[in-house]
Amino acid sequence: MSVALSIATHRRGACPTLDVPMQTGDGLLARLRIAQGRLTPMQVGRIAALAAEHGNGLVEVTARGNLQVRGLTPASAAPFARATDSLVKIERGLVVETPPLAGDDPTEIADPRPLAASIRAASVLLAARLGPKVTVVVDGNGRLNLSQLKADIRLTAIGSNQWACSVGARSDVILRNEALMITLRTLRQIADIGIDARAADLPGATTTPRLTKDTSPIGVFALRDTTATGFALPLGSSDHASLAALAAAADRHGITEFRLAPHHTMLAVGADPAFMADVAALGFITDPADPRTRISACIGSDGCASGHIPARTIAASLAPDLAPQTSLHVSGCTKGCAHPSAADITLVGEPNGYGLVISGRAGDTPRALLRADQLESAVAARQG
Ligand code: SF4
Repeated sequence: MSVALSIATHRRGACPTLDVPMQTGDGLLARLRIAQGRLTPMQVGRIAALAAEHGNGLVEVTARGNLQVRGLTPASAAPFARATDSLVKIERGLVVETPPLAGDDPTEIADPRPLAASIRAASVLLAARLGPKVTVVVDGNGRLNLSQLKADIRLTAIGSNQWACSVGARSDVILRNEALMITLRTLRQIADIGIDARAADLPGATTTPRLTKDTSPIGVFALRDTTATGFALPLGSSDHASLAALAAAADRHGITEFRLAPHHTMLAVGADPAFMADVAALGFITDPADPRTRISACIGSDGCASGHIPARTIAASLAPDLAPQTSLHVSGCTKGCAHPSAADITLVGEPNGYGLVISGRAGDTPRALLRADQLESAVAARQG
């Protein structure tokens, strides 16, 4: 596909893509929607090399399990896009997400991929009338489900040929052969409101409730024929050298596939303990109890013009002090990009210090303005 690049504005509702990267403080950011989130070690290694060649070498896995490359320039973004496009299959159009183990998870009630593929194929023309954040989740309801991710339309397998369909706060049980038709009808209703519309704008709808507590992808998951072992990128980010070393280690250990997963994680299919020891030695998170799994942080002033503090660097330094079972969000400014919802403790970069928000969002009014030497004790105090 030819790649005609333009640049996304940093406005609410805009989403960076490979074709339309977004301007940030450290250059252009491209988000890659890798088809089914599956990558070979060779592809991971090549993406790391491309990130170093065309960007600033930083690669992220987002909370929804998409890959991001940072620090592209107006001159390098197009060659990066062309090289990436020829390396991996990139999804475009309507965002239709399935869980990372879809089709291989023996605990899932139904394989969601055929329905997801039908929705993608049937929505090609409609997608141009929908905003880039409109999302359909098709979930087989297995162990690694997507129940914690927001969706405009959520189809969750609940029985043989039965799906729970939720649109906003409304939920109905429908049969599989109705699912495509109802999804398309709802997408058309959203499109008819306007390009910025979401399901919550439909009459009678409110924000989609989060359904059940989800499972951390960090750990070992039995598949039908093998296992998949999850690990996280520290605070969602990796430098290109670590990612290249990860790919090389996978090659040495005979790993043939990675899958991108929610919560800034990746799964290695068929990984053995020796490979996971290498993964840990490279600095990736292999312990679900690691406090960094409870921390969200944007790049802050290290890579965003709006940032008042180097949020990710500060978050990493505070991790050892974080109180047990407490979530922390360190945000470069009040926009709170890394974690739009509430956290137990939020530290917000201000021009003259660190705003402290308890049980709230980055945009909430801070209860105190802290100095740098007060941060450790603030995050060590158990909240709630
Ligand atoms: S929250 Fe972070 S990434 Fe978002 S605009 Fe503020 S500093 Fe930039």
